[in-house]
Amino acid sequence: MTNLRIGHGYDVHRLVEGRSLILGGVEIPWNKGLLGHSDADVLTHAVMDAISGAARLGDIGKLFPDTDPAYAGISSLKLLKEVSALLTEREFCVVNLDVTLLAQAPKVAPYRRQMEANLAETLGISENQVNVKATTEEGLGFTGDGSGMAAHAVVLLEKL
Ligand code: MG
Repeated sequence: MTNLRIGHGYDVHRLVEGRSLILGGVEIPWNKGLLGHSDADVLTHAVMDAISGAARLGDIGKLFPDTDPAYAGISSLKLLKEVSALLTEREFCVVNLDVTLLAQAPKVAPYRRQMEANLAETLGISENQVNVKATTEEGLGFTGDGSGMAAHAVVLLEKL
């Protein structure tokens, strides 16, 4: 049996007024932010779910229940750090990580290098192993009309 494990993560959060927009641990100036129990960093949530899938940890809802007040408003990078520690415990390392943000606006291209750096640093890997990209959905659906954002992540892990 190979020592490689692939995982996919998907997440959605609603965009509302009066919240900060945090993506990949970067605060992006915008008139709306994502609604959620934590900082609602949809991109980092998809990453955690991809890793949880590959390492057979279940999902982030199981690891960090949104009924637990300990996670209210918490930085999702802190949660990712905990997921990273679980990987180390189970002797997994991240080979590479690819993330796609689905958002109509704002343009996140100016922030993607910083998101990659944040994710890489939190996971203890090189920025060369992380790719963050974004697409619109051509004005269609809930991302198109600006009522929410979604993110997909795919990760490859190696069991040491
Ligand atoms: Mg989420």
